[in-house]
Formats: sequence, C-alpha cells, structure tokens
Amino acid sequence: MGFLDKQFGKWKYCPECRTWGARSLFGKTRCRNSGCSHFDVQLTMEPVPEPPLRKPLKNHAGSFNPANTVSFRYRNFQGEERSYTGDANSVRIRGDHVSIRLLPAGVRAAFRRKHFIGAAPVPPGGNALKPTPQEAQILGYWRRREESGRGVSLPERYLDLKKKFPSWR
Ligand SMILES: [Zn+2]
Repeated sequence: MGFLDKQFGKWKYCPECRTWGARSLFGKTRCRNSGCSHFDVQLTMEPVPEPPLRKPLKNHAGSFNPANTVSFRYRNFQGEERSYTGDANSVRIRGDHVSIRLLPAGVRAAFRRKHFIGAAPVPPGGNALKPTPQEAQILGYWRRREESGRGVSLPERYLDLKKKFPSWR
C-alpha cells in the first residue's frame, strides 16, 4: 500500500486550502495541511517535490539584474545540495515555503523551509523565519535539557532547528 501510494497520485495544490504538496488519487484529494478537511497524516511523511516553476517575468528574462542579491544552500527533495542566488528584495514567506526570484532568469521558485542548509533568505524589512509552534516546543524542551548541563544526548532534529533559528528564544 505504501509503495502504491508513492507511485500514484499527482502532486498539486490543494483545491480547498491552496497548500502545495497535496495529492490526488482516483479523484480523492489528500492534503498535508492539518487544518484542512482533506488532511491525511500519511502525506506529511512523504517528501514533497518543489512546486512547479512559474514562467520568467517578460521584462526580466535573460537580463535579471537585481540590486541586492542573497545566496543560500538548499537540499532538494532528492537529497541533493545546491546553491542558489536570488533577488534579496523578492523574498516572501508563504506558510511552509520561502519564495524568491532566482538568478539568472528571474524565475520565482519556492523552497521548503526545513530543507535550507543554514539560514534561509529573509524578506525585505525583516521578519526572520520563526519556528512553528511544534518547532518552538522542540527547541524549548531540548534547550532546557541542554542548558541543564547534565550531558544529555541531543536529537538531530533539535540541533538542526538550533542552526536554523540561532537567535530564537
Ligand atoms: Zn488542503
């Protein structure tokens, strides 16, 4: 059953809540957003491909030359690490994704925030990514244990989150 689930079902935006990474199988929609009526917990355990790229802006195609750029590293859903550079002023946060217009063609692409290696680009004017309530809970819990100085072994999930949100308290 798990195998079939992975092989079938087209990736799409959920028709109800617009979350990327929903799947449709035999006309039935399953969604990864826990607040959605199509929510299926199994889906949250599957790696999700990047949303389809949009077409380059007409004006920018081939000559996209933003004043401020930002570079970052990212692990795609096949586990490959890649470096990207994009327009620092184009960064937006949409739910679970950071979207940015990339060099060289100005195509906007969305990146799942948990797959950034190191810091994710920050939207202009500033709000750095904040942990989700669940991530905040993990951070809080394990930070207390870490700071208790009792030499507990810390889970990788916590160490990753700490790297991602270095200044979050
Ligand atoms: Zn949905």
